[in-house]
Amino acid sequence: MVNLTDRQEQIISIVKKRDFITGEDISSILKTKRSAIRSDLTLLTMIEILGVESNKGYFYQGLDKRILLAESIKSYKVKDIMSLPIVISEHLSIYDAIATLFLENVGTIYVLRDELLCGVVSRKDLLKCTLDGLDLQNTPVKDIMLRMPNIKYVFSDMTVYECAKEIVDSQIDSLPVVKETKFKNKFKVIGRITKTNITKLFVEFGSEIDYREI
Ligand code: ADP
Repeated sequence: MVNLTDRQEQIISIVKKRDFITGEDISSILKTKRSAIRSDLTLLTMIEILGVESNKGYFYQGLDKRILLAESIKSYKVKDIMSLPIVISEHLSIYDAIATLFLENVGTIYVLRDELLCGVVSRKDLLKCTLDGLDLQNTPVKDIMLRMPNIKYVFSDMTVYECAKEIVDSQIDSLPVVKETKFKNKFKVIGRITKTNITKLFVEFGSEIDYREI
């Protein structure tokens, strides 16, 4: 990354406004001598923010900051930020599932059958059971959970961006991170990605990057 001076930023904004502009014209806009900005133009060309064509002059070719940001965002993988999953057996009662939700301080629990993902229960699903007056102690979660193949899931080498998109599109709070097994369409749960993980990454990202350094 390169720290640009105010003068270099000024040059960039001048060049951005035109298709092409000569060094002479830039220096006259800046009310300075051509020689005074020579080293700035050399640097900006070297780091490929500006391009230069003989007989035409300088043009702006810098990667747009938004494109750089988009590329950085897409470089983060699920495995970089996933949390531990909270899992229960499909035979656990709804009451115990609610207790788990509070004890583990999560919003969604993944349900396993023979160690493999078979369902999802979220806080609203459990709240609905109480409103519906179900026998919470004697009804297993398998009776009320959302089942495969309706569960949205991700793999650890997918990008966080893909997860965020799925979370937004499906209007859910979390996605189980799964690993394939020898059985077709049967998965082990190895993690979870939540809106909180993604928000934390966003905060980390914002606090690390000084916009002027891009
Ligand atoms: P909340 O209960 O706080 O609204 P969600 O927004 O995550 O939590 O859940 C909304 C609905 O989506 C619930 O009925 C839940 O069962 C379902 N759901 C949650 N996670 C998933 C998932 N990964 N795939 C498919 N459906 C899900």
